[in-house]
Amino acid sequence: MSQIVSWAELFPREFEEKLKACPVVYLPLGLCEPHGLISAFGLDTFKAEFICQETARRTGGIVAPTMPYHIHENGPSARWLEDQVGALNPRLTSVPSNVFFQLYIYLLRTFYNAGFRTAVVVSGHGGAHVADLEWISFQFEHLTGMQVMYTTDFALAGGKYPGDHAGKYEISTFLYLRPDLVDATRTVLDDGKRFALDPSSLEATTEYGEEILNACIASLAERVQLLAASRGAAEDSQFLSFQTTEQFWDQIVQSDHRFASLQPREGQLPVSRGYRYKNSEFIKLR
Ligand SMILES: [Zn+2]
Repeated sequence: MSQIVSWAELFPREFEEKLKACPVVYLPLGLCEPHGLISAFGLDTFKAEFICQETARRTGGIVAPTMPYHIHENGPSARWLEDQVGALNPRLTSVPSNVFFQLYIYLLRTFYNAGFRTAVVVSGHGGAHVADLEWISFQFEHLTGMQVMYTTDFALAGGKYPGDHAGKYEISTFLYLRPDLVDATRTVLDDGKRFALDPSSLEATTEYGEEILNACIASLAERVQLLAASRGAAEDSQFLSFQTTEQFWDQIVQSDHRFASLQPREGQLPVSRGYRYKNSEFIKLR
């Protein structure tokens, strides 16, 4: 079978063969956000794509087109941005939680309607929204019977490789994946120009990045094999209508679940008055 695993690159016959052999879909999630002045914005996206592609090559399954817009700037991230980038423009590709959640449900719907029995979502971007998306994934699984696993590279790397934001961990992974997108001088600036770079990034190495990503792929492959074994064959007749999806979304909005990305963390310092993300501290699902 061909080593092409991207949905967008598959012919219908190849898609059917792959779906039949392993009805698992991977969704890479990323974002453009600051990782210091020494790094390109899309670090998170590249990590997620690589892990999904390499795991699919090992275990089978199909990689859906990447989603490069994600949740940032609301809830706990509002204050984080003030602390990490201050007055600089973070040039984010973010959307609010309510918009992302609803789109996420519709992305899962496309996977379900295409016949997949398991959806594996790998995000290169962490934050308070992880718990929210895990919960929504669980609800969708309950609704449809399609397994939905939401994870991050940080969770996959486990305790052996402690995660960070633009520190030794993340910059190492980027040095391995795209050395052309990391500035070789790697200076950590002060005076408000750190642009979310962690000083531990000075210890980043290509070898460490390779180790981290290999660990992520090994861990994901193992989990996917277990998940796939517990689910039946691809199902052509499964179909979720817009109407049922909207009813499901209404249930999410009306639930009394506490969404972590809709408000600051407990004990977190409030965003300063006048800061551009002050109004993003508390948002509502609607
Ligand atoms: Zn990152």
